[in-house]
Amino acid sequence: MTEPVRHAYVHVPFCRHRCGYCDFTLVAGRDDLRADYAAALSQELTRLPQPLVLDTLYFGGGTPSHFGPDGLRQLFQLTAARLQPGPTAEVTVEANPLDVTAELIEAACECGVTRVSLGSQSLNQQTLAALDRDHQPDDVCRAVKRLLGAGLTVSVDLLIAAPGQTLNGVKADLEATIALGCQHVSVYCLTWEPGTDFFRRRQRGLLQAVPEGLERAMFEEAIHRLERAGYRQYEVSNFARPGGRCRHNEAYWDCRPWEAFGPGAARFDGRTRKTNHRSPTTWIRRIRAGQDATGEVDEMNAEEAARERLVLGLRRRDGIDCKAFAKASGYSVEELAEQPLARWVAAGLAVADDDTVRLTHAGLLVSDSLWSEVL
Ligand code: SF4
Repeated sequence: MTEPVRHAYVHVPFCRHRCGYCDFTLVAGRDDLRADYAAALSQELTRLPQPLVLDTLYFGGGTPSHFGPDGLRQLFQLTAARLQPGPTAEVTVEANPLDVTAELIEAACECGVTRVSLGSQSLNQQTLAALDRDHQPDDVCRAVKRLLGAGLTVSVDLLIAAPGQTLNGVKADLEATIALGCQHVSVYCLTWEPGTDFFRRRQRGLLQAVPEGLERAMFEEAIHRLERAGYRQYEVSNFARPGGRCRHNEAYWDCRPWEAFGPGAARFDGRTRKTNHRSPTTWIRRIRAGQDATGEVDEMNAEEAARERLVLGLRRRDGIDCKAFAKASGYSVEELAEQPLARWVAAGLAVADDDTVRLTHAGLLVSDSLWSEVL
């Protein structure tokens, strides 16, 4: 029997401006499209024959907080017809620190938001400027204080390996972040995506990537300092204090089915991933014309789905429960990865016994370079 869907994502593709490194699905400075977006989202939600009762609901972007207090209320009113968080649901909204006013928090609490993920990226003025961010370190501190004061769970995003960033700069950023007292921290290394302004500037020699060895040292520093401060690295890029894990992302990593709405949003039924058209205007046009707005369909066979489950499991610090894995996927871990696992164990990158397989600290640090061996 198919597992019922208990998780949903809504993509809100609006930002004030596009940061130079960002290749997410969004429009910047096009608030004139908001009414069309809302109408299309309402229409796309009717794809669900009946309302879903959810364990987690996540509004990501873009910048959902860019809608402001009234816009946020309207967004929740609009989605409530089909997306209904259960009594203990985790409801997350992504926010720009500049948008986190007392009025926005009031609206968020009224709407049932339980968790805010803050796109802070850094607490260093030069790094924020280098990343084209429009906020200051003080805006992050103020936002976190207000959100925690309102009883919300707060996650802070940190970006490392930014142009010009030093190891000492990363250490200071980490200490400043820890001092904020939030429950969750996500740490990402800057990636240079084709088509972004950063990518073009790097090609012209105007920006330089941080050397690989330094990037690794920065990430090691993040793991070390966050863990020492009580944040457990429960997934490669995610750290949480007890009780602070992101349940929504855990559902992704468990390969549970989820629904998703909005441009570029990907939904998953346990075997097939369908991704909406990435262009917000094309998505709006197709939905408004009553057409299917799906852009890509990735239908995995049983073995491909099992291999994906293996990688998502190994990205998690707890690793894989071998019996549960075999039951859910139809494959044993050995069938899929006996030789790579033996190599990783010999190199100190993984530990395995009859019941569990997991990467070590050293393995998590280089995990991206391991996946090609099992996919
Ligand atoms: S605020 Fe976030 S989503 Fe918007 S452009 Fe910047 S990085 Fe991308």
